[in-house]
Amino acid sequence: MNDPSIPTLADALLSWFDRTRRDLPWRQNRTPYRVWLAEIMLQQTQVQTAIPYYERFLSRFPTLADLAQADEQAVLKLWEGLGYYSRARNLLAAARQVMREDNGQLPCDFKALRALPGIGDYTAGAILSLACGQQAAAVDGNVVRVLARWSGTAWSAKSLQDRRQAADFVLTHMPAGRPGDFNEALMDLGATVCLPREPRCPACPLAGGCQAYCRNLTAALPLRDKSPDVPTERRLLLLIAAPGFWHVRQRPPRGLLAGLFTFDWLAPDQDPRAFRTWLQGQDNVLVQPLPSLTHRFSHLAWHVDALRLGLPRADLGELAAWLETDGPQPDGRWAGRQELQQLPFPAAVDQYRRQELDEPPKTASP
Ligand code: SF4
Repeated sequence: MNDPSIPTLADALLSWFDRTRRDLPWRQNRTPYRVWLAEIMLQQTQVQTAIPYYERFLSRFPTLADLAQADEQAVLKLWEGLGYYSRARNLLAAARQVMREDNGQLPCDFKALRALPGIGDYTAGAILSLACGQQAAAVDGNVVRVLARWSGTAWSAKSLQDRRQAADFVLTHMPAGRPGDFNEALMDLGATVCLPREPRCPACPLAGGCQAYCRNLTAALPLRDKSPDVPTERRLLLLIAAPGFWHVRQRPPRGLLAGLFTFDWLAPDQDPRAFRTWLQGQDNVLVQPLPSLTHRFSHLAWHVDALRLGLPRADLGELAAWLETDGPQPDGRWAGRQELQQLPFPAAVDQYRRQELDEPPKTASP
């Protein structure tokens, strides 16, 4: 039998949320478009990092119709530094689809939302509960953690089946009338109190009924899966510069960092040692080593070595034979300073462009 002195999950959570809710820009005027944009940005990005990006994005594209008309490059530029650029491309594709098929209104319907590019169960649940007022669960890793601990259940955030069970659990406890607040309260608790490593249980509004806290299981729940090792690719980046110009290359329209710009790469079928030997014989190329870096993507890591190659004029000459020729413009092209500032570069190699332009490093580089 339940202890009547312990408030229900919903009562405890919502009264805490009413006292402490964070004032975040996407919590004002919760339209489906604004909620959607926020949830997509927050998928791989910390709240504080996302705020300025969110505000810039909305001031440039205040409505879904504005976004649908945008040029992909302008959207990617606004996303620059946030990483996981497929999120931005999917936003644009989904906005265009909604304009074509739904009169420019994001549908308040689970199946229709899930049919849009980039919208999964979590984002659909967030839009439905926060902006449409529907009883829908929005379960991410934070929410699985809170609920696994509170209920003492051996769930793992990586298991689809466990996430579905957690979603059913949310719906069982969600109070009628406040679905969005209930989901946001769970998200906030996971982000600020029920932390992965050192949960702040004495300050938690759910401590009285929390199984993990009462049974000393907070370190064991949720179940943790080791993040898998990912293969590492070694790449040689070639920053080719001539007076007033830099040679840039757009990535292919599909695959890793699709559509973004980078400097050049040594072609995969070229031997880096043979290339360095060849360089030694080139009197007109000023070679300068740049710092190496390692950048980890979700499924792959790049170890990037880099050389700056200074040319007397904007002409690749024999150098062209060594370069990767993948992408919409196999020969790449020359960009002046202003264009180099405006092209969308991925975080993986943006530090080289910033050094070149004397720009300070970005704080957000997931
Ligand atoms: S009491 Fe501790 S473990 Fe339980 S929900 Fe609160 S912060 Fe998490």
